[in-house]
Amino acid sequence: MQKIVIAIDGFSGCGKSSTAKALAKIFGYTYIDSGAMYRAATLHFLDNKVNLDNKVDVLENLKTLKISFDFNSETGKQETFLNGRNVENEIRSMRVSDHVSEVSKIKEVREELVFKQQELGKNKGVVMDGRDIGTVVFPEAELKVFMTADLTIRGKRRLKELQEKGQKVTLDEIVRNLAERDEMDSTRKESPLLMASDAVELDTSHLDFDDQVNRIVEYAKERISLYSK
Ligand code: C5P
Repeated sequence: MQKIVIAIDGFSGCGKSSTAKALAKIFGYTYIDSGAMYRAATLHFLDNKVNLDNKVDVLENLKTLKISFDFNSETGKQETFLNGRNVENEIRSMRVSDHVSEVSKIKEVREELVFKQQELGKNKGVVMDGRDIGTVVFPEAELKVFMTADLTIRGKRRLKELQEKGQKVTLDEIVRNLAERDEMDSTRKESPLLMASDAVELDTSHLDFDDQVNRIVEYAKERISLYSK
C-alpha cells in the first residue's frame, strides 16, 4: 500500500494535534508536531535572551538548536526534546505561547525548521500538523486538511487540556492568546496561515473527536487507494 503525506493545517486550538496523533496511530504513520518545533525554538530563544531583531543573534542561536521527539512508553505519548532536555510541558506554557508567533514569523527560523520538517517527512508515511504544511512544507501532500472551529469552543477545549496538565490559566487568557496568534499567524509576511487551494476544510466546532478523526480517515483511505493504483 502506498504511503502518503497527510498535512493538517488550521487555526490555533482546533484540535489539530490530537487529530493528527490519532490518524498516525490508525495508519501506522509517524506524527510530527511542527508547532512543537516552533515552541521549542521559542523556549530556546527566551532562555538565551535572544534579541529577535538581531539577525546575528538569531542565527547563532539557531545553530545551537537541536529539536527531537521521543516516544514515552509510560505515558504512551510523544515528547519534545530541546538539546536533549525534555521540554514537553514547558513548551505548552503561556510564557512560550505568548511569544511563539513572534519567533515563528522570522524568516531564518522558518527556513531552518521547514528544512527539518521536510527531512522528517521525506519518506512519506507522516501526519504533520501546523500552519503551512500544505502550502509550504509539503505542497505535494496527497491529503491536505484545513481545520477551523469557533474561537470560544477552541478556548474551552484548550482550557481543559491545560488544567488537566496542572497549569493555572483562565479562559480569557487562553482566548486572548488564541486570537492574537491567529491574527499574527495569518497576517505575517513569511508563510502566513492560509488554506491551500486543494485542501479539504473541516469545521470541528460541533463535531465530537471521533467524528472528526473518522472523516479524515475516510479522506485518507480514498487518497491512499487512489495513489496505490
Ligand atoms: O500548533 P501550535 O499551536 O502548537 O503552534 C504554535 C505556534 O507555532 C503557532 O501559533 C504559529 O505561530 C507557529 N507555527 C507556525 N508554523 C507551523 C506550526 C506552528 O508558524 N507549521
